[in-house]
Amino acid sequence: MTLKKQLIGLGLLALLLFACKPTDEVKNVAVFDDYAFLENNIKTLASDDFMGREPFTEGEELTVDFLAKVYQEIGLKPVFGDSYFQEVPCVSVVYDTDDEINLETQGGTIALKKDVDYIAQTPHLQEKVSLDDSELVFAGYGIVAPEYGWNDYEGLDVKGKTVLVLVNDPGFATGDEDLFRGKAMTYYGRWTYKYEEAARQGAAGVMVIHNTDAAGYEFKVLTNTAGSNIYLEKDNKNKDLCTLTGWITEDATSRLFEANGLDFNKFKNDALKSNFKPMNLATTISLDFENDLTYQNTRNVVGMIEGSQRPEENIVYTAHWDHFGYGPVADNDSIYNGAADNATALAAMLQTAKAFVGSEQPERSVVFAAVTAEESGLMGSAYYAQHNPFPTEKTVANLNFELLLPMGRMKDVMVTGFGMSELEKYVEEEAAKQDRYVVAEATPENGMYYRSDHFSFARVGIPSLFIKGWQDSREYGKEWAEEKVKEYWATKYHKPADEYDPDTADLTGIMEDAQLFYQIGERLANENTFPKWYDGSEFKNIREESMN
Ligand SMILES: [Zn+2]
Repeated sequence: MTLKKQLIGLGLLALLLFACKPTDEVKNVAVFDDYAFLENNIKTLASDDFMGREPFTEGEELTVDFLAKVYQEIGLKPVFGDSYFQEVPCVSVVYDTDDEINLETQGGTIALKKDVDYIAQTPHLQEKVSLDDSELVFAGYGIVAPEYGWNDYEGLDVKGKTVLVLVNDPGFATGDEDLFRGKAMTYYGRWTYKYEEAARQGAAGVMVIHNTDAAGYEFKVLTNTAGSNIYLEKDNKNKDLCTLTGWITEDATSRLFEANGLDFNKFKNDALKSNFKPMNLATTISLDFENDLTYQNTRNVVGMIEGSQRPEENIVYTAHWDHFGYGPVADNDSIYNGAADNATALAAMLQTAKAFVGSEQPERSVVFAAVTAEESGLMGSAYYAQHNPFPTEKTVANLNFELLLPMGRMKDVMVTGFGMSELEKYVEEEAAKQDRYVVAEATPENGMYYRSDHFSFARVGIPSLFIKGWQDSREYGKEWAEEKVKEYWATKYHKPADEYDPDTADLTGIMEDAQLFYQIGERLANENTFPKWYDGSEFKNIREESMN
């Protein structure tokens, strides 16, 4: 044990003693008491001046310049030569597509209406895109998962065809704990996975069959944003992806099956079994798109502390900087400030960075990435993970700061996607030093693990953590915390009301979270270990392949 570690150990002991007196400020590591630094950063990032931090706008310029300035002030090293900026080339696509699709079935023509029966998009980055007479195939859940002994595409050739697939996974539908992960969503349940697998299989099109329970949201949520999308710019113009991606309602699917003399519900049930056989629907689909493409760059802001012994090995922290900018007016306000989503989390990451700079140089590099365009589908983190300035196999872990509520000190540390990797042992041990306990998210069926930036790292196999105090206030208990969180979702989440109010905010819990992130990262940055995904994790194989 180094002298420094002994000192930290003593500090932690002191913390445990202090923790018995909740009114005392946490004074473990000296740098975690600079509340002015924490609060000023939140205030600035969430201010009306920053115009809701929308990518591609003046709000982006202000935000990324501010972050770079803070990085420089606290002493982080630029990662890209003398620059903190990683350019993220994006393409915004506005679709103009048919208002109606006519499907020629065995029982005659069926007309499907856009935004009523289906939504259709294309990832192909060109102005004119057509799908011609593509045969429809029902492919069950559209899942290939060797670790669960599951392959819906077995023996099926879908080249040039359009697959219809059920949303979520068989574990959710049955609640059977032995099927996938039971009610908890796996990545195989996400629509993004279904799109990717269909493309890997060579399908020309993929439509996910919507169901409100299984998707977690109504069809209306999809139609609200169906007319446009943002993609990362790719040399291959995304030609490796399906021509058509979209959703179809269960009702429209039932009509389609019926017209072919088939019972959708029977097939839906059959799809719950691993010996399910896909069904050719003897129906073809055609669709034309006229796309309006706009090419624009946005930026990740990335700084680091170089490792003293193994600088290629690294721990990467993330917090997305973007939010929605100006939007529909609510309560006379049109600025979507995104204070808790994600100014508080960004400020906490800056706090953690500052603590690292003030500590002994770590053996491994520690990287801080404020990533862009999370709200448009994890774009910035996806780009980072795919263009990692460090080797993927030497990137030890990702720790993601997202949506921290200024509700004071919490007794819990909630792990979203609990049961995924050995990183959870670190959380447990470090949380205990703060007199906190680890708890799983209450609703793993919502698939939150797949909806923030850490997931971009998981997808390339890098173990990643999404944690925060969330469920149990030290002062007011669980019910109070639940009420606070509920109130946030209902009145502030993705609304202009997500503002920073210094009169009601209590930043002590956010400070403590920043310290926990530091403790976990500090340990990882001074070890030789590479924490692994647990057996049964859908990312374990990807990691093992990348490490070989
Ligand atoms: Zn967010």
